[in-house]
Amino acid sequence: MKVLIFGSGGREHALAWAVKRSEKVTEVVCAPGNGGIAQIARCVPVDLKSLDSMVQLALAEQPGLIIVGPELPLSLGIVDQLQQHGLRVFGPSRAAAMLETSKGFAKRFLQRHNIPTANYAVCTTDEELQQAVEMFHPPIVVKADGLAAGKGVLICQSRAEALQAAQGLFTGALLGEAERQVVIEEFLEGDEISFLCLSDGKHAAALVPAQDHKRIGEGDTGLNTGGMGVYSTDTLLEPAMTEWILRHIAEPAIRGMAAEETPFVGLLYTGLMMTARGPQVLEFNARFGDPETQAILVRLDSDLVDALDACIDGRLAEIKLKWAQGASACVIASSAGYPGSYKTGHPIGGLSSAARVPGVEVFHSGSALLGNQIVTAGGRVLGVTAWADSLEEALDRAYQAMAEIEFEGMYYRRDIGHRALKKIS
Ligand code: AMP
Repeated sequence: MKVLIFGSGGREHALAWAVKRSEKVTEVVCAPGNGGIAQIARCVPVDLKSLDSMVQLALAEQPGLIIVGPELPLSLGIVDQLQQHGLRVFGPSRAAAMLETSKGFAKRFLQRHNIPTANYAVCTTDEELQQAVEMFHPPIVVKADGLAAGKGVLICQSRAEALQAAQGLFTGALLGEAERQVVIEEFLEGDEISFLCLSDGKHAAALVPAQDHKRIGEGDTGLNTGGMGVYSTDTLLEPAMTEWILRHIAEPAIRGMAAEETPFVGLLYTGLMMTARGPQVLEFNARFGDPETQAILVRLDSDLVDALDACIDGRLAEIKLKWAQGASACVIASSAGYPGSYKTGHPIGGLSSAARVPGVEVFHSGSALLGNQIVTAGGRVLGVTAWADSLEEALDRAYQAMAEIEFEGMYYRRDIGHRALKKIS
């Protein structure tokens, strides 16, 4: 079978790597891909902002399975369009992707289906804002309704600050584009967990849990990024808690979407806050997370293509996912200046020595092939991913491999997993 993957980051590199391990797969095509993906798949150009360009490519390639990585094409309805052409695609319809593309929709959906989440108000006017802000005690969380590439959440220390932030979202002063809706939300405290499930529209199959580090600086300080590292261990969630989250959060969400006639087929990513009153949903994403996917897929001992096929055919209940026990970790190497502006085009050295460290895969997030040389091409450049029997060993391996790699201005956090390590010690 030929598999076509849309996207160009570390998530897509890990998906291509996992898909390639399937005995059924004869060829992997990635569009547009990157310098690392080009080592294991055929990369072809595509414009991920143009559904036409994606559909034309899929029709020309005629793959047996298509996987859509990033949220933008999902939000534009790429899955609906590919299906209209009779193609087999893993991912949610435009209507189902609303769980990610509108925070207002997601909050109201959660409330309709009694799924635990922070108290909130969805506001469309200044008047509603004034009233809503009075109902919450600072800190107050202000969220843009639409996709905001991780920049749409503001934690405000006073009501005045919350009002100003929300108005900035309405006018477009904060994100460039004006938001029609803003969510005002209660501030929650606790550990965050990324809980990912496959869904065939009726059933949910949980992947192993992960915890990520979003801030640029060590000790979880500084600006928010797409993610500077992540880890996954059996100890992150007790089996009983995993079961609770499935019964009270993931399954009701899947059933709720089916009942509303917008069944969710694809990967449902739930961002959870583990609070004193139990797990609460912070957000949904309608696709694999990045860099969570890198750390999760290296632990998968089942055939990913079988599982994705079962989702498309509505027979996920037949699939039992197997996982390697132990732990994994992914440490991101980024360009100097990220998440602000940065330079690209620097040669990356040491990739083959890093790959020789046992239990390590180096997934590329932002790289390009220039002649025979791999060069930097993004803010996040590499995701050095390792697995082992314990988190300590997985981190040791990842950092040992990282020490082999070099490029001008390379930066990485040296404290990935620090919260879990503290708990273990
Ligand atoms: P979201 O895109 O909704 O997941 O928000 C991004 C980040 O903002 C989350 O990973 C949390 O760290 C933080 N956040 C979002 N909502 C809340 C909340 N209600 N209380 C505290 N922190 C939050």
